[in-house]
Amino acid sequence: KVLVGNLIGEGHANYVLMYNMLTGIRIGVSRCQAKMKRSLCDADFTAKHKFTFDIIGRELTPHAKYDFKFKDYAPWVFRELREHFHLDAADYLLSLTSKYILSELGSPGKSGSFFYFSRDYRFIIKTIRHSEHKFLLRILKDYHEHVKANPHTLLSRFYGLHRVKLPHGRKIHFVIMNNLFPPHRDIHETYDLKGSSIGRDYPEEKAAAKSGAVLKDLNWLRRGREIELGPEKRALFEAQLRSDVALMQRLNIMDYSLLIGLHDMRRGNIDNLRQDNLRVFQPETKELKRQPTQVKKPGNEQDASALRQAVRRSDPKALNSQQVTKLPDRDVSERRHFLFYQDEGGFRSTDEHNQPGHMIYYLGVIDLFTPYTSIKRGETWWKGLRQNRHMISSVPPKEYGQRFFDFLCSVVTGGDKSRRPKMWGFTE
Ligand code: ATP
Ligand code: CA
Ligand code: CA
Repeated sequence: KVLVGNLIGEGHANYVLMYNMLTGIRIGVSRCQAKMKRSLCDADFTAKHKFTFDIIGRELTPHAKYDFKFKDYAPWVFRELREHFHLDAADYLLSLTSKYILSELGSPGKSGSFFYFSRDYRFIIKTIRHSEHKFLLRILKDYHEHVKANPHTLLSRFYGLHRVKLPHGRKIHFVIMNNLFPPHRDIHETYDLKGSSIGRDYPEEKAAAKSGAVLKDLNWLRRGREIELGPEKRALFEAQLRSDVALMQRLNIMDYSLLIGLHDMRRGNIDNLRQDNLRVFQPETKELKRQPTQVKKPGNEQDASALRQAVRRSDPKALNSQQVTKLPDRDVSERRHFLFYQDEGGFRSTDEHNQPGHMIYYLGVIDLFTPYTSIKRGETWWKGLRQNRHMISSVPPKEYGQRFFDFLCSVVTGGDKSRRPKMWGFTE
């Protein structure tokens, strides 16, 4: 399964980095969180808090296993964002740092970023380039304003921006964000959609051999997929997308995509399960209820991704119903506040009469740190020499956003198909 990475234990090449990241987050976040709440001021958007860790310990930082420096960027802004996204501070820290284990997805994109999942699969740590880091800081105010005005935004939710500096001087920037995919539902197909066609095809033979591949625009069209939404949900989705895309255009951002995971409730989680374990995975309203008292019990520390792996290996021991029914409570807890994440942590299909269907979509707009810089402009120019200038991924942000929006509207059931460029050859 694509989003289940390798657990990083002691001895893993990135263990020290992970340890430092989590220690920094634990101390930085709890420091800020311990202070009295106050309203934000301009300086908060550029603030940096520095921490020095060493094996002896200092006045402000407890001793750590390794020497390193940690920087917390705009801590008050992220504190407010987390609150706005209905994240409980203690819960956040617990998810990330109670066990000091992350699983590493490695580097799935071309960018060289690494992705790590928190133990319970709720959060993703993405390492980013220095330029991306600076860009996020530059747009932080607009982003903050936008998510406050758009509580149901489809854009990635950012919970923290940090840097670890290792003794030999290497600096690693990283951001913490929401995992769009749930720990308790199998994702049957994953797509990364941009609305462009060139280079947007994942080889079907490869996809058939490897479950969990991230498919692209042309696969979506070839397979005849649609986001099945009735008039009500379709209107909500389009309205939110329009607003989010307008921000991307205003901030001069391109190259983002809609990540979408499909869960077919008729298939459920059964693909690798033994028949007698089925009942514990049936959708139950109970799973959506929050039971905070359970969170801290040791018996509930079963790691979601480990569990998923165990499930996939059909290990009956990992499937005692206690562990499984307890698992989802934390994951969906904050999601119930958000329109597009409230059905089992996702957005459920509806028919033309707005009645619920059997698909759950886990979707959001990801990869938001690419401004249309001179490098990208060069790419547009030279790629445009050989290919249709409008169908490559790299076009100016206004055009990128419009094409993205039009394409996504065209793939919603009942959406405007005429918005889809004819040259794709997949239009009706
Ligand atoms: P590139 O710039 O080459 O596209 P990148 O390193 O910037 O790559 P992203 O596009 O942000 O990477 O993400 C790569 C993949 O990681 C996605 O296709 C998706 O499978 C997974 N991913 C990224 N963000 C999330 C998220 N918020 N939730 C779940 N999965 C995610
Ligand atoms: Ca991307
Ligand atoms: Ca990227």
